[in-house]
Amino acid sequence: MADLSTNIQFIRGIGPQKAKALGKLGITTLQDLIAYLPRRYEDRRALRHIADLQNGETACVAAMVASPPTLAHIRKGMDLIKVRAVDETGALDVTFFNQTWLKTSLRQGETYIFCGRAEGNLLHRQMASPIVELAGRREQTGRIVPIYPLTAGVSQLVLFRSIRQGLDACADILPDVLPDDIRRAHHLCRIGYAYENIHFPESAEALDIARRRLAFEELFLFSIGLKRLRSRREVVSVPPCQEVDMGGFFGALPFTLTDAQRRCVEEALQDMRSGTPMNRLCQGDVGSGKTMVAAACVYFMVKNGRQAALMAPTEILARQHYGGLAPLMEQLGIRCALLTGSTSAKTKRSVLQQLSSGEIDFAIGTHALLTGSVEFADLGLVVTDEQHRFGVAQRAALAAKGSHPHMLVMSATPIPRTLALILYGDLDVSIIDQLPPGRKPVETYAVPGSYRPRIYAFLDKLMAEGRQAYIVCPMVEESDDAAADDRKAVTAYAEKLQEEVFPHRSVAFVHGKMKPREKEAVMAAFAAGKTDILVSTTVIEVGVDVPNAAVMVIENAERFGLSQLHQLRGRVGRGQHQSYCILISDNRNEETRERLKVMTKTTDGFRIAEEDLRLRGPGDFFGERQHGLPGLKIADLGCGTDLLREAQQAAEELLSQDPNLTTCPATAVRVEALFTQNANTLN
Ligand code: ADP
Ligand code: MG
Repeated sequence: MADLSTNIQFIRGIGPQKAKALGKLGITTLQDLIAYLPRRYEDRRALRHIADLQNGETACVAAMVASPPTLAHIRKGMDLIKVRAVDETGALDVTFFNQTWLKTSLRQGETYIFCGRAEGNLLHRQMASPIVELAGRREQTGRIVPIYPLTAGVSQLVLFRSIRQGLDACADILPDVLPDDIRRAHHLCRIGYAYENIHFPESAEALDIARRRLAFEELFLFSIGLKRLRSRREVVSVPPCQEVDMGGFFGALPFTLTDAQRRCVEEALQDMRSGTPMNRLCQGDVGSGKTMVAAACVYFMVKNGRQAALMAPTEILARQHYGGLAPLMEQLGIRCALLTGSTSAKTKRSVLQQLSSGEIDFAIGTHALLTGSVEFADLGLVVTDEQHRFGVAQRAALAAKGSHPHMLVMSATPIPRTLALILYGDLDVSIIDQLPPGRKPVETYAVPGSYRPRIYAFLDKLMAEGRQAYIVCPMVEESDDAAADDRKAVTAYAEKLQEEVFPHRSVAFVHGKMKPREKEAVMAAFAAGKTDILVSTTVIEVGVDVPNAAVMVIENAERFGLSQLHQLRGRVGRGQHQSYCILISDNRNEETRERLKVMTKTTDGFRIAEEDLRLRGPGDFFGERQHGLPGLKIADLGCGTDLLREAQQAAEELLSQDPNLTTCPATAVRVEALFTQNANTLN
């Protein structure tokens, strides 16, 4: 009998060949297989009459094949099958490309379900390349059908046949990781029912029940994992830091800290004086001045006679921090060094030597700080910037370079308080909820695509005044290789803009398929003012500071979550110039327009995050990129904040009764797996 760790090639009906194909989706064990979730569902229960089909709609019809299919070779490598099908209301001409086997498998007189996009008119209805299956088979039609993310060589059909086999193979052996009393107390279905219906829902209600159960389970395991991480950390004790007169530091700043910054500094210093390692998240909107909070902590640590390190996710950010902080720090007698992937071997040798001897107090850098050859004499504080780019494991790797150093994590992603607790369950949270005085809010407009000529004219005027612009180009939706399509979209958009609209300006582009070095070179040129317009996908989302960029144009704004729009908008309004954000969308949907309107009304990231949570549910906040913790799969499919709270509460109750999970070994095993598995996926 199989267990969940069985390799899928041994499952009846799968075999080595399919197993190999599925391997490309990361599916190797039975557990992987049944946990591979649909991206969405299509309700293909309703059957339509041919005569009622509207041009352009996607629908299913039951129709009889009226004459034998014909096969034509259109050109090399392109075969066309044509078949006429009829129901009692009309006829439908169906075509298939390169599916020659249908010539013999579609039999005259037999009724099939055809599911696809209807075209043509009353006189001549057609469907090209529909899904087709024998009426009554109810595999790909006649029910709510799961749609899985695919890769080359694995079709929907292969996937859901394999998953069917997988579910049958483990129907009786699925361990339930939810203790039975918790499951019942929260009105959740059994695990078998949940997996069956998340893949092959009997009804929309059954799907909801399955989803709720699996989302709860996921949030529950996640909460337990985080709470255990936290309790493990609390037992460590370290020598408390000494009081430091911070006057020297504050006096050296060209401005006074805001009250919010001061509060965050005080909270962090308090942690470091406490005798247990600080593990604090400092969350503040873009431009709220997180760097100075970090700098205050560095000053404090160095005055305590120990070293500090600041890790940024990209070379350009590391350089920016170094450029901004080193002069201030050196002036205060703190010796600084920059260490990145492109630091020359010679400089690197001397930096490494000085770090290990303690001659350097403060190291700023990228992942390069994590490499094995980097040793610190006495690392007391680790700061990571733009935290959602680093995994928990990377923070841990840097921490391992000292003996329980204090950790300060900085994030510009505002997370509603209700979610912060679970997402950052292993961290204490400080919030900078105030911007330095004198900032001009970014003026934001939501407009339809017909405004493009006016927008371009406006950009040109700003560029004539010396400003620069970002344009976030339309994203490609739902495709098997979205990154490659994004690349095409970005390059095409940028070329067109350069040639047809701004021949007299310099247009650059950046996209996710570029090598990190290429990307950074483009960003650096933009930061240096060498290009006027930067067209990109959302890769520019993170932390780069180009104060001269005064306008952000976002195409297809409706496709972004509010928080993401807010992040993008945060790229401008960083200098003394009035800045603008223009959201372009032709979507007339009421909800979309309401969302975009929120953006034009407020620049408060926390309010926007709360609004996003209200409008879209917490799924978005769980995208792995945002927090670097184990990715939540099911919760992504949408669940309410209430469920989150329930799951958290249940986790707390269980741990308070049974901190070591001795009464529920299946739960313990899964929590362990969740966190060790993800320790390796550094994002
Ligand atoms: P972020 O929180 O986005 O990392 P930064 O730390 O980069 O923000 O700060 C943004 C800008 O605001 C910097 O130019 C910084 O020097 C400036 N700044 C920070 N704190 C203050 C303050 N209290 N008063 C005035 N300007 C400040
Ligand atoms: Mg910053």
